[in-house]
Amino acid sequence: MHEFSLVSSLMMLIEEQARLHNAKRVTKVVLGVGRFSGVEPDLLKLAFDTFKEKTICEDAELVLEIEELTLRCRDCGKESVLRERPTKKCPSCGSLNTEFVAGRDLYLKSLELETD
Ligand SMILES: [Zn+2]
Repeated sequence: MHEFSLVSSLMMLIEEQARLHNAKRVTKVVLGVGRFSGVEPDLLKLAFDTFKEKTICEDAELVLEIEELTLRCRDCGKESVLRERPTKKCPSCGSLNTEFVAGRDLYLKSLELETD
């Protein structure tokens, strides 16, 4: 499952961060999950629960923040949230000179650490 490999690399990132901050425990993990990231939130939670055993994240709460697909237009500067199907065309001016700025990735947004 795709989600398991994602969580496995995420765990390494979290452990690295925890080490950098001399943390003993991670109490909260906040992930940004793009609506079009291809990640299934339920599977992500399941994978996290599976991986966290006996790690620094054992008691961590997992929070998923779903992010809508957002397109930024380089011509008119407008950011549009795309709720239907993804398009590279700016809904505001019709330009194709655009980029996706959110909604396609899974990433670590924040961590809450305990140091003592
Ligand atoms: Zn535009």
